[in-house]
Amino acid sequence: MLAILRPDIDEDSPEYKRTWEALQNLPGIELNVRTIQGEEHKLTEVYLLGNTQAVELDQIAALPAVQRVVRISQAYRVLGRQGDQQAETGFSYNGIEFSQDTLNVFPGLCAVDTPENVELMMKSLQALGHTTTRMGAYKPRTNPYSFQGHGKDCLPYVFELAGQYGIKVIAMEITHDSQIEEIDTALEQAGRPTGVMLQIGTRNSQNFELLKAVGRQQTYPVLVKRGFGITLNDSLNAAEYLASEGNANVIFCLRGMRTDFGAPHRNMVDFGHVPIIKRLTRMPVCIDPSHSVGDRAVAPDGILDIAHVTAQGVISGANMVLVDFHPQPVEALVDGPQALRLEELPRYLKDVDLAWDTYQQRRKIWATEA
Ligand code: PEP
Ligand code: MN
Repeated sequence: MLAILRPDIDEDSPEYKRTWEALQNLPGIELNVRTIQGEEHKLTEVYLLGNTQAVELDQIAALPAVQRVVRISQAYRVLGRQGDQQAETGFSYNGIEFSQDTLNVFPGLCAVDTPENVELMMKSLQALGHTTTRMGAYKPRTNPYSFQGHGKDCLPYVFELAGQYGIKVIAMEITHDSQIEEIDTALEQAGRPTGVMLQIGTRNSQNFELLKAVGRQQTYPVLVKRGFGITLNDSLNAAEYLASEGNANVIFCLRGMRTDFGAPHRNMVDFGHVPIIKRLTRMPVCIDPSHSVGDRAVAPDGILDIAHVTAQGVISGANMVLVDFHPQPVEALVDGPQALRLEELPRYLKDVDLAWDTYQQRRKIWATEA
């Protein structure tokens, strides 16, 4: 059961104290409080865990600080919408807002290879006033003999360059919980010039111990990718693992599903699910057009398939785009065939802006009474 308290309720107010006391006296019920600082209001939610069948909804709804009570399903307890279409979504990290109403694009290197390429990438972003990127240091590879990423060795120059070029958030995949500390130490040593969003890859979406460890820390927000061969419900539960351990600053990323039917794309593009994730949960939704499409093919209209599917996701309200770029795609050590070139970055971002503007206009069309 979930008790949603009145917005901006003061914890020292008599209403709050009376409510809290009554909730604490419920037999066999454990309480779990979560506060969400939205753009305008602070929302406090109290989860009643245990044998809630014996608790009457009306009894809780009558408490002075309570605005509304809902019986919640077991699934997506924290991240789910629980039938509340109006609940605040999102969070702010290092000065950037992430919610179901914002859009942030993360163009960058699939895998860090050289300091020169990191610098070229970040320089291009800065020239366009862009402050978010992706940089892969730890790469999960299917083939054990493939390049596994430079790991912690590249972190000092990645973070230093990020600071130099005004990058505020870097999406970076981790494959083992020990890497959280490596990132934390390197950031600390560099004087925290930038922020990191920890990424859980599609292959680790059911690595429950990793999910729990990442969920236990609250310093870094998390981007969790949909598992490429499991149900949507299973993938959303992966996200809920993070939240259940304490970190609800989670973004869910669609990256295509593995099936032969998606060919010639690398994976079956699943961006039609953007509105579904937004309806089922409060998470901002990311799309990864690079790992979905997998190559630089161009349609007869002159537009890259990667740009086409990006626009398809953004026009449906996607909130984040994770996309591979490389100064010299043929030399990239990982996923070169799907990397866009730096000179394509301005056009790509312009195209994304257009799709986002169109999405806002689409919302207005559907908001008006027929
Ligand atoms: C990646 O983003 O670099 C990556 C490996 O993606 P995925 O986990 O979706 O395959
Ligand atoms: Mn990749």
